[in-house]
Amino acid sequence: MKSDRVVIVGAGHAASELAGALRQQRYAGPVVVLGDETRFPYHRPPLSKAFLSGEIDLEALDLKPRDSYTRVGVDVRTGARVEALDRRRKHVVLSDGSREPYRKLVLATGGRPRRLTLPGLECDRPLSNVHYLRTIEDAVRLRDQLQPGLELVVVGGGYIGLEVAATARQHGLHVTVLEALPRVLARVTAPEVSSFYAAVHRSAGVDIRTNAAIAAVEFDTSGDAVKAIRSTDGSVLPVDLLVIGVGLVPNVELAQAAGLEVENGVVVDAFGQTSDPDILAIGDCSNYPSDLYGRRVRIESVPNASAQARVAAAWICGRPAAHNAAPWFWSDQYDLKLQIVGLSEGYDSLVVRGKPEERSFMAFYLRGGRILAADAVNRPAEFMAAKRLVAEKTRLSSQDLLGDESWPLQNLHRAPVASHIG
Ligand code: FAD
Repeated sequence: MKSDRVVIVGAGHAASELAGALRQQRYAGPVVVLGDETRFPYHRPPLSKAFLSGEIDLEALDLKPRDSYTRVGVDVRTGARVEALDRRRKHVVLSDGSREPYRKLVLATGGRPRRLTLPGLECDRPLSNVHYLRTIEDAVRLRDQLQPGLELVVVGGGYIGLEVAATARQHGLHVTVLEALPRVLARVTAPEVSSFYAAVHRSAGVDIRTNAAIAAVEFDTSGDAVKAIRSTDGSVLPVDLLVIGVGLVPNVELAQAAGLEVENGVVVDAFGQTSDPDILAIGDCSNYPSDLYGRRVRIESVPNASAQARVAAAWICGRPAAHNAAPWFWSDQYDLKLQIVGLSEGYDSLVVRGKPEERSFMAFYLRGGRILAADAVNRPAEFMAAKRLVAEKTRLSSQDLLGDESWPLQNLHRAPVASHIG
């Protein structure tokens, strides 16, 4: 039984994609997916967008129809929490004490929201009006509390915080965003793009406060709900709802306890393999060497989970193909679709194409003439061209064409000023 059995721990995006990719790549052995949530794999991005706003319902969240797994012989088990890996005997131990043998084991355990460590908030006791957002249950609970006129404080001006702010504002809540850094989206975009997003939120009525965090929390008389917070800028804000979006902690404990190498995620090679040749790791929980950027990265995005899943399937099927896709991501806020490709860290120049005031523009990040990354706001066609420029490590001897809208971006890779490393 063990001889050709693939066991996948976690039943999220990466796991669902991997199970499908194994069958597409004609893997004939048993495939078992063990997920600790009560649901089949579902789309997480709408949890802060269309699902939170009520535009789509629960059924629309399923990644695939449930019977599509059984039809291809993939055994998805929900409510199945893996507690330990036994590498010597090659099986996993579940919380009910049962064991599942494997030939290849794939860790697709994702991550969990980083918790705020403030007196009163650090405990495991759930507070009735404090929200983190990762699962359907989190989103349902928050959605049920989004009532017009309430005071919502969002801690964290990253994607999730800003998406929640936009949705809540559209539902008529009074929204304040506290961002500890000097600008929103600071870890991923240029100051120019941050300023654009801050201005959009402010014009929608969101109170964006940067260099601000919670200094202290005041509870109501029951002690079960936050009544007010004191910000580090000294102001006191009344609170009906508190949403905390301050990042993700990768779920690496299983790997760690089993002695696998872990550093900001489970360390894998370009094929998804961990320090144990029979164990792979993919998706948000994994840390891989990026050929594109010459360093290790851990990427939290659906396209990355899918790409790594396909790479892992190819490895298991004996047709190795290294993971070298350019990471990309998207965020929907108001009428704005932001798409980001590549990692901009270390850029030395920025070229803006189009006019932010027209709510449709791009920002290109370059280092030594090479296009490292690009942000596209409401420019889906040009984003496709940008993906190619980034993936091909396009280097420009003159950057003028990038900002010149009369020059189609789709033709830029053929321009005399362009050369490609990849
Ligand atoms: P997950 O989807 O988190 O799946 C991991 C699963 O493993 C979970 O169900 C977890 O409970 C389970 N698990 C963990 N430990 C165990 C165990 N021991 N035993 C059994 N099961 C276990 N990405 C984008 O690209 N674009 C977006 O716009 C976007 N928006 C997002 C909005 C929100 C609100 C959130 C939360 C995420 C968003 N993301 C977005 C990120 C994206 O959802 C993740 O990158 C993606 O889900 C990663 O897939 P994964 O399979 O690695 O992890």
